[in-house]
Amino acid sequence: MNFLAAAGARRLCAMRAVFPYLWRGKYFSSGNEPAENNSVTPMLRHLIYKIKSTGPITVAEYMKEVLTNPAKGYYMNRDMLGEEGDFITSPEISQMFGELLGIWFISEWIAAGKNSAFQLVELGPGKGTLLGDILRVFSQLGSLLKNCDISLHLVEVSQKLSEIQALTLTEEKVPLERNAESPVYMKGVTKSGIPVSWYRDLQDVPKEYSFYLAHEFFDVLPVHKFQKTPHGWREVLVDIDPQVSDKLRFVLAPCATPAEAFIQNDETRDHVEVCPEAGVVIQELSERISLTGGAALIADYGHDGTKTDTFRGFCGHRLHDVLTAPGTADLTADVDFSYLRRMSQGKVASLGPIEQQTFLRNMGIDVRLKILLDKTEEPSLRQQLLQGYNMLMNPMKMGERFNFLALVPHQRLHGSNHQTNARQSKPSPSPVAGFGELAWR
Ligand code: SAH
Repeated sequence: MNFLAAAGARRLCAMRAVFPYLWRGKYFSSGNEPAENNSVTPMLRHLIYKIKSTGPITVAEYMKEVLTNPAKGYYMNRDMLGEEGDFITSPEISQMFGELLGIWFISEWIAAGKNSAFQLVELGPGKGTLLGDILRVFSQLGSLLKNCDISLHLVEVSQKLSEIQALTLTEEKVPLERNAESPVYMKGVTKSGIPVSWYRDLQDVPKEYSFYLAHEFFDVLPVHKFQKTPHGWREVLVDIDPQVSDKLRFVLAPCATPAEAFIQNDETRDHVEVCPEAGVVIQELSERISLTGGAALIADYGHDGTKTDTFRGFCGHRLHDVLTAPGTADLTADVDFSYLRRMSQGKVASLGPIEQQTFLRNMGIDVRLKILLDKTEEPSLRQQLLQGYNMLMNPMKMGERFNFLALVPHQRLHGSNHQTNARQSKPSPSPVAGFGELAWR
């Protein structure tokens, strides 16, 4: 079946914003950008109180408080994505992104033997736009999936964003069930009749056969920062500026701190960022995939253990000093894909990271664009499709900076026992859609 053409037999989505909004993968910062907003925010007051009581805090603790503090965290009570917000992401730029990811999951489901049921689990689903585009592909390919029991599981800490996700995905006529005390804090049914549940933690998602998706999720997890000094590694901490009482500044810890254990012995850089929480999530995903099957697709901006200072802030589509007006701007750091691969600890096979432009091209974005253009006469929609394609694929834009990494069971690449021909000494590797043979390790 030609998936790309089948998924094309529908009308285009509503206009999506493209220019001139900023995507977060673009810049590097040393935190020295001019302050744009000097107001003493409730979060700043909270942090100053905390530092006065217990001393300087790690950058990881700072990031966690600023982004996900239940009462005042940046992510908790606002919609930061898109035109009116602080940054824009690929699914918000073009419907083609989610459609191709939808096809990737179906292709993995087929390759793994068309299980009679699967869970689709998304970590940090934003506005739910990506899932909406994926579900539309699932509906278009309904005949293929008609005997498969699909459920959706959204891992989201933000109350505000979970409400927006529910608006995007669910059928208004079926009321949502809410229980703030339960690990499953919300439940509903999608417009196409698929059950959907919300969790704050991946640990609470049922350990069933699942496909996992994380797009621009790992970059918001808290990083520890370290500087190499003549006395060894010293952690970067956040302290109160002694000259200005309501201002924060970076200092170096006077002696070694526990998170130093995450730095590799043979590290050659003089500044590193490590994200233990990302390691915990990868270990959990790897454990689950090795036990029950399925796959994980991770997409983010990042590097392979080569970059140094990538911690930066975004507010209103502009770079923002990370220590100024905390709680009003997004904070992010590039994902270290080499660390993610290491943390899978060989429980699963990892493919990539490969650049977004390569992955999307392998998935057929050029064919998909042509199909959509052929079906679209409206000049503004054609323009939007072309601009969206350019933004996703252009190496100077998102094409090179964003990467895809997949985690699949070892059997997926080497054939499971029952599939392997007994006379064959070496089972042949099965190619995974989107990842060329050269990309897999
Ligand atoms: N995937 C979306 C949104 C990316 S923004 C997109 O690409 O458009 C990051 C998302 O992760 C938001 O939904 C945010 O609320 C969520 N998030 C941040 N920290 C989280 C955490 N610790 N656990 C779960 N979700 C988190």
